Amino acid sequence: LAQLFRPLDLLGMVYRTVRQGLIDMDAMFALVDTAAEVTDAPGAPALAVGEGRLTFDDVSFAYDAERPILKGVSFEIAPGGTLAVVGPSGAGKSTLARLLFRFYDVTGGRILIDGQDIAKVTQTSLRGAIGIVPQDTVLFNDTIGYNIGYGREGSGQAEIEAAARGASIAGFIESLPDGYQARVGERGLKLSGGEKQRVAIARTLLKNPPILILDEATSALDSRTEAEIQGTLNAVAARRTTIVIAHRLSTVVDADEIVVLEAGRVVERGTHRALLRKQGLYAEMWTRQASEREMEEA
Ligand code: ATP
Repeated sequence: LAQLFRPLDLLGMVYRTVRQGLIDMDAMFALVDTAAEVTDAPGAPALAVGEGRLTFDDVSFAYDAERPILKGVSFEIAPGGTLAVVGPSGAGKSTLARLLFRFYDVTGGRILIDGQDIAKVTQTSLRGAIGIVPQDTVLFNDTIGYNIGYGREGSGQAEIEAAARGASIAGFIESLPDGYQARVGERGLKLSGGEKQRVAIARTLLKNPPILILDEATSALDSRTEAEIQGTLNAVAARRTTIVIAHRLSTVVDADEIVVLEAGRVVERGTHRALLRKQGLYAEMWTRQASEREMEEA
């Protein structure tokens, strides 16, 4: 009997890891079903995405009832706009992304896409409208072409190659002896952190979602790779409503709005320049990270 339960334990573990780390949730949905606590309302309609306006309206959330994590968070991202969320570790940044993808339901307030409460539409339609470039991309033991094509079922070779070009990984793939047929994963080619991120970007390009979550890697890429990937991401984020979960501040300078989260509350908001002028938490974090960068470069 114990044998019978083991695969379920494993799935549970994978699921918890994915939820926790926001690791390629998108890819993992095919493997593991969603949480029992999140259900479609009877007769729920599909999300009708229009221009892609995203609203967090007084959102509160707790994983455990005794410990509130988000406390009345509100912001709005105009269609095609970019909002960056910054703040100390544990402030609740990744939790915002988990709620938007509806891994959990909010405990107070609402999240709206084009005026529709995400709790009232089908999960499939919601997740179909949101792309995630995660911190850490899960690769399948299959060809690199398959790993990119995973972004959208039924995509053809020409589309996969176009996505690879958009993610600036086509040159690398073409340089491999087996090209798109090269196997990756445990038994094949090991991709670097930057290459894996480009696979995630290519998948997202294929999916072509109107709403994008960029969960910035905490693990350090070298600064040249980071700058190159940033350029690619900026191109992917253009014309899409984007929320950037930023662990480093160097990547948020150009956001339309920056929200500073501290212990689950929005404590400051504005553009990079406005926030620097304010001399508050953001300015302090910026100064600290700038001196850390200088130390690294020295
Ligand atoms: P970081 O920058 O370090 O990634 P963050 O701002 O993204 O941090 P979150 O991951 O959103 O922070 O976590 C916010 C708080 O919620 C943390 O105190 C964390 O311990 C807690 N938390 C996260 N996931 C769970 C969970 N599944 N169950 C209970 N508490 C959780």
